[in-house]
Amino acid sequence: MADAAKTCVDAALAALSGYLRIPAISCDPERADDVRRLAGAVCADLRALGLDNARVIELPGALPVVAAEWLRQPGKPTVLIYGHMDLQPVKGEIWTSPPHEPTVRNGRLYARGAADDMGGWVSHLFAIKTWLELTGELPCNIKLILESEEEIGSPNLERYMDAAPEVFSSDAMVLTDCENPSTSIPGLTTSLRGILEATVTVSALTADIHSGLWGGMAPDVSTGLMTLVARLVDDDGRLREPRVAVPLSWQTPAWDVPLDTKVIREGAHLAPGVDPLPCRGHPPAEHLWRQPAITVLTTTLPTAERKKNALRQSASAILSVRVAPGQVDAVVKEAITRVLTTNTPGGAKVEVKWAAGESGAWLYSPQGPAFEAADRAYVRAWGRPLLQIGVGGSIPFVALFGRRFGDLPLILNGVIDPLTTAHGPDESLDIGVLSKVILTNVYLYAELGAALGSRRDP
Ligand SMILES: [Zn+2]
Repeated sequence: MADAAKTCVDAALAALSGYLRIPAISCDPERADDVRRLAGAVCADLRALGLDNARVIELPGALPVVAAEWLRQPGKPTVLIYGHMDLQPVKGEIWTSPPHEPTVRNGRLYARGAADDMGGWVSHLFAIKTWLELTGELPCNIKLILESEEEIGSPNLERYMDAAPEVFSSDAMVLTDCENPSTSIPGLTTSLRGILEATVTVSALTADIHSGLWGGMAPDVSTGLMTLVARLVDDDGRLREPRVAVPLSWQTPAWDVPLDTKVIREGAHLAPGVDPLPCRGHPPAEHLWRQPAITVLTTTLPTAERKKNALRQSASAILSVRVAPGQVDAVVKEAITRVLTTNTPGGAKVEVKWAAGESGAWLYSPQGPAFEAADRAYVRAWGRPLLQIGVGGSIPFVALFGRRFGDLPLILNGVIDPLTTAHGPDESLDIGVLSKVILTNVYLYAELGAALGSRRDP
């Protein structure tokens, strides 16, 4: 089985390259035909692979999903595999080789979507193929769902869940769009930060006034806005409150993720001479994954074209707040609103308007037989168990699966590694990782099949 899984890597790369040549960019309405062409090609391949009921499902106003299944093991658990077929745009990016012409260099496959996320689910197709070719069956039941709107925030995925619940009903889910801390350390994503957005408007005057005649006596909304926003953060620029009391488990080696200065410097594109923010006695990963952060997205401060010697009537800014997993949105909003609206310069009027919607912060505790089974599969293929990691960003589909299926084991893994540059130029997939993940999946089906009962009708 292991030999077969290893030798199929070339075939997996060939299939993957075929998919990657289709520019299935979901945010571009002109590419909707490409998205559908890819969905059709994948569906035909799933059928040829030996999966049952391979189909393209379309809801009005949405891009399609592809679903297929293999449910011939009554009494065995059903494992749902989720991946996405769509791609981020490439406009304005400079690539070494064309983004939709897959190219192998130095052990990596370069193409938009190579790792995010085509490699993720193609690794499952070849694990399935290995089982079916060698034994004629799978060691558990499998359902496959491939979305094509992940890169635009999965706006219709919940509608698909409502319209076709049978596609999703399962005993465990493997969501293959996440990353590994390195090419030798496999990652299990267990938390996401959420995101909230607020528009802050400071108003003080009923007309612009002369800054020489009135400066120092009338409130300046520009410095007022900056002062109020600055009150939210400490000298490092980190949100002062609310902070999270991070559990002691963070001090154990299990959280000792490889996130050293070099990784941060490269990953964050720090300019020469600039250092990462000081960690103040906390692990770097805590600041990235488990604490909130705030960013100014836009302001209406006067621009060069509007330069004049005047105090302005009002100024506003849009703030983005990354909400830490475990934080309550209402508590975060209240604390920030209070700081911004208290003791304003000259009693200037400050309005804080929060955009609708929940932050989607997510915190998961991976416990039980499914995760023990996953660890056994990873130990066999990688020589070590999964390392629990967080993500500083927000992934709408994960928050959605967490909300709808949080009672099931959710295994968030993937083929992305720190050199992947997902969403950026020269996105790439480490071919060694692809090979290990195909093998991992081969073992994972067997381990899950043996470890879990069947709780639902397949
Ligand atoms: Zn993705």
